Amino acid sequence: MKALVKTQPGPGNLALQDVDAPKPGREDAVIRVRASGVCGTDVHILHGRYRTSTPIIIGHEFSGEIAEVGPDVTGWAVGDRVVVENKAGACGTCRLCRTGNPHICAHKLAYGTDSHGALAEYAAFHQNALHRIPDNISFEDAALTEPLVVVNHGLLERATISPASTVVVLGAGTIGLMSIQVAKAIGVAHVILAGTSKDGVRLALGKELGADTIVNVEEENLREVVSRLTSNDGADVVIEASGSPKASAETIHLAARAGKVIVIGLTGSPVSIDWDLAVFKEIDVHFSKSSTYMSWVRALKMISSGDVKTAPLITHRFGLEDWREALRVTETGEAVKALVIPNGGAK
Ligand SMILES: [Zn+2]
Ligand SMILES: [Zn+2]
Repeated sequence: MKALVKTQPGPGNLALQDVDAPKPGREDAVIRVRASGVCGTDVHILHGRYRTSTPIIIGHEFSGEIAEVGPDVTGWAVGDRVVVENKAGACGTCRLCRTGNPHICAHKLAYGTDSHGALAEYAAFHQNALHRIPDNISFEDAALTEPLVVVNHGLLERATISPASTVVVLGAGTIGLMSIQVAKAIGVAHVILAGTSKDGVRLALGKELGADTIVNVEEENLREVVSRLTSNDGADVVIEASGSPKASAETIHLAARAGKVIVIGLTGSPVSIDWDLAVFKEIDVHFSKSSTYMSWVRALKMISSGDVKTAPLITHRFGLEDWREALRVTETGEAVKALVIPNGGAK
């Protein structure tokens, strides 16, 4: 089968290769991948800025149908439409796994970085990671379940957001645009989306998806806007979804006293923050990584109900052979979400 493989560490070293299709272990399902999203993480992997095992098939935002099951798989059959929770390798026996945190188990082998991902025609996963796609969600829309689970974990599980609040979302990528929608779905009064000129159409899309105020930080002073809209209090919640060290440091200034900061973005470098200001304001900072079982249940319900719209985020579609272009439009920001369709149509 064809698969996009990070062959060695370092810049480049990404290639579309012919590799053996996976065989299911006794409790595994082999998934025929129907849609596979390209993420900013994949761009970092291309440039050697994000550590992975090698050789490894990348891709971690996907949907598909079961093509084959191992002999000990129960409750799943060929043809079932599925998305897959990212917890391969989690041991099931450590303190974290036994307290409901397999997503940060030290033994976890995240697919797309430490175990084989799904920018490929097929991929195999343990049955305990599968989630059924509701009938009214297309494969394309289902491929966006993974970024939504990351948002759900941060906004609804690591922190909680109350409806009568002002929320600032930093970053207008897929995570930011989904954060707006989750905040609005739970009744947040005012959502401010902040981005840069590079975000282009993404800021306008943010407005369409429910943001009440849009700020281009190159044209307006975000601190002043937030102050004005909150009677100088600051934001109840600041969501860092840009991955910019500068924006990450700014969260402390934007948050109100007793406010919350939710960190989803990875910066790739240390961040220097005004520590004392954070102490004086008694800010709660919630770092958030990956997702839990419930993040997936919630995400599939939100997409199925229409509370979160995924289709407007899907701007580009490519075959696997056009992977370079898919990564390019992701890197330049021309795409909000580029999908790779490895096996023909994905509806
Ligand atoms: Zn991603
Ligand atoms: Zn464990």
